[in-house]
Amino acid sequence: MKISPLQSARPAISFEFFPPRTPQGEAALFRTLHELKPLKPAFVSITYGAGGSERGKTTDWAARIQNEVGLTAMAHLTCAGSTREELQAILHEYARIGVRNIMAVRGDPPRGSREFQPVAGGFRYASELVALIRSEFDHTFAVAGGGYPEGHPEALSLEADLQNLKRKVDSGLDFVVTQLFFNNALYFGFVERAYRMGIAVPIVPGLMPITDLAQIRRFMDMCGASIPGPLLTRLEKAQTPQEVLEIGVEHTTRQVQELLEAGVPGIHLYTLNKSPATRWVMQNLQAVLR
Ligand SMILES: Cc1cc2nc3c(=O)[nH]c(=O)nc-3n(C[C@H](O)[C@H](O)[C@H](O)COP(=O)(O)OP(=O)(O)OC[C@H]3O[C@@H](n4cnc5c(N)ncnc54)[C@H](O)[C@@H]3O)c2cc1C
Repeated sequence: MKISPLQSARPAISFEFFPPRTPQGEAALFRTLHELKPLKPAFVSITYGAGGSERGKTTDWAARIQNEVGLTAMAHLTCAGSTREELQAILHEYARIGVRNIMAVRGDPPRGSREFQPVAGGFRYASELVALIRSEFDHTFAVAGGGYPEGHPEALSLEADLQNLKRKVDSGLDFVVTQLFFNNALYFGFVERAYRMGIAVPIVPGLMPITDLAQIRRFMDMCGASIPGPLLTRLEKAQTPQEVLEIGVEHTTRQVQELLEAGVPGIHLYTLNKSPATRWVMQNLQAVLR
């Protein structure tokens, strides 16, 4: 089924996972998916390995999520490491197996480099992948793309980044999912500037409950998102992993509550393949979501 965050009666709640590397990880992901299924997500998304690595795993998992778990899948696809023809072949495979939702992103530069280099015959920007999907596959797929409330780390300015987002939307995006953020004011400002620029598609906030401070610091370095000072201080003072989890869940719950009250079209939760924090946030929000 194709997704449209604007068509659903309630905000489209979605969860993001990555393809596991080990049999234990696979079993754990199945468990997590089954644990989260009763929360009736509008879709679950499955990421694409950095640099285009392990691409077959994303296809396999997207199919399994639909056929074995019974949830609607969104498959991530990156320009990194693939030619136009290879990307076309992957998209044909999705059309064949009935996966109808694609998260079209560029991919990151290799570790240690700050510049993205497309492969010969590949794409430099996600907008080119979006244009390929629209020109070759018409409306077979719902297509989402990434947006950056704090600006993409490589962007020359927030303004230039938004102009590039507009270009990507005009290439055929149905909706945008944001990079994670911990301060809702950043999202509200981003959405306002985007709408002023003429970006009219839904912009779904992407959130991650903090469960591990060291891990979240690594993410911040990679994606350029910031943690508000008071939240960081509380996390640094936490004595146990359980305390970190409680603070993380409490913060995300408050973020989601405020975002829903503001009428956002959906909430995308980055789960890191673990269900407890996500389930806890959702449990806290049951009354609001009903
Ligand atoms: C929701 C979401 C899901 C993601 N999923 C994955 C995943 O599964 N696998 C993975 O490897 N990575 C994933 N990423 C990370 C993503 O690959 C990186 O953030 C990457 O650095 C940028 O991808 P993008 O699609 O936003 O790129 P783009 O939209 O191409 O933008 C990249 C940079 O180029 C600039 N730019 C864009 N167009 C132009 C232009 N025409 N001229 C000049 N500059 C331009 C932009 O301002 C930006 O600075 C995801 C990110 C998000 C937000």
